[in-house]
Amino acid sequence: MTAELIAVGTELLLGNIANTDAQFLSEKLSAMGITVHHHTVVGDNPHRLAGALETARKRADIIITTGGLGPTYDDLTKQTICQTFGREMELHENILEEIRTWFRTKMGKEMPENNVQQAMLPVDCTVFDNPVGTAPGCAFEEDGVHVLMLPGPPFECRYMFENRAARYLEKLTAGVIVSHEIRIFGMGESSVEEALREPMTRLTNPTLAPYAKLNECMVRATAKAETREKAEEMLAPLVEQVRETLGDVVYGVDVDSLEEVASRLLRERGLTLSAAESCTGGLIAKRITDLPGASQVFRGGVVSYTNGVKAGVLGVPEELLERYGAVSEPVARAMAECCRRLCGSDLAVAVTGVAGPDRDDRGNEVGVVYIALAGEDGTICQKLSCGRGRGRNRVRSAAASSAFDMLRRWLLGLPV
Ligand code: ATP
Repeated sequence: MTAELIAVGTELLLGNIANTDAQFLSEKLSAMGITVHHHTVVGDNPHRLAGALETARKRADIIITTGGLGPTYDDLTKQTICQTFGREMELHENILEEIRTWFRTKMGKEMPENNVQQAMLPVDCTVFDNPVGTAPGCAFEEDGVHVLMLPGPPFECRYMFENRAARYLEKLTAGVIVSHEIRIFGMGESSVEEALREPMTRLTNPTLAPYAKLNECMVRATAKAETREKAEEMLAPLVEQVRETLGDVVYGVDVDSLEEVASRLLRERGLTLSAAESCTGGLIAKRITDLPGASQVFRGGVVSYTNGVKAGVLGVPEELLERYGAVSEPVARAMAECCRRLCGSDLAVAVTGVAGPDRDDRGNEVGVVYIALAGEDGTICQKLSCGRGRGRNRVRSAAASSAFDMLRRWLLGLPV
């Protein structure tokens, strides 16, 4: 099955907002085995929307629109779709009641009369009620083409897709589609592709597809079968093959992030961590404390951005800072060791580097980062070149990811 996404909203065309709904839906649809061939964006204009719908119905099995389901005069998606596909609209009393209740309970006021419009839906459609907002979505089939309408606000769009529309689509694609995400750090997308080219090009079901992510990449293995069990049976050897081919750069399957894996390993081993951060400015602490239950494994940290704080708060010897400079192996090691003592943690990670835009006064290039990890039995340190030429944020996020990967490797006894 092929799908086309049509985002409706003049703000999108003006560049005021990015089409994140399309990004989210495309990712979800491809994981379900539905191929997205086109993304279209149209303003709040019924003629151009009708034109986009006419084009889409000729080339896609599934059309999904986002936005334009609100109660205002420029919310024209439903009306335009119904005119284009020759459907009448009718009032859904139960949906109207839900919208009235939503206003009373969530907004503390009576529903304005123009919201009645939102309960007008195509005749003979599947209604997607919206417990997280007011605009309901819906779906119908006409001449073999399925049309789904979802609200524009990203939270509502996601909720409605995951809890309502996905089930509608699963029924269209006979059987179940199961996928697993193999997460990789320390190997670029093109090298991953090269290593897996043979199965990627040969396989049709299950399939393997690579995706680039921020500072890392991911391979998705997808299988379609009559039952979930059969799909899992098809996927298990493939996931194993990818793990074997790529080795220890694979940090997890169906996990969210490197910090999630590192935190789980710390928890399993009953160990605590602290962080002394210079160029990452607290990013390591932020990423680990984004995870629920972080207090079990993370004791705290110091953002020691200046030499004064490195010496005065952490206790890094002034002599080391003068002799080697802040961006150096001896200072990274000392930061980690001092932080471990100061925070009373089992392990401490320290990061010092050049985020840019200019090299530092000792001639270290942008992206040069030293990461140290101190534990009971000693300290290890590595020098990396992180995200050079891609701006401060990339250097900082790559440095934080590298620190979590170093921790993961150390905890698993892998070469660092
Ligand atoms: P509402 O009930 O809020 O009126 P709606 O379905 O009519 O919902 P729109 O009015 O088109 O949606 O958009 C509401 C807001 O949702 C926009 O101002 C924008 O912030 C966000 N939005 C709309 N479309 C998209 C999109 N494709 N990607 C990301 N955000 C979007």
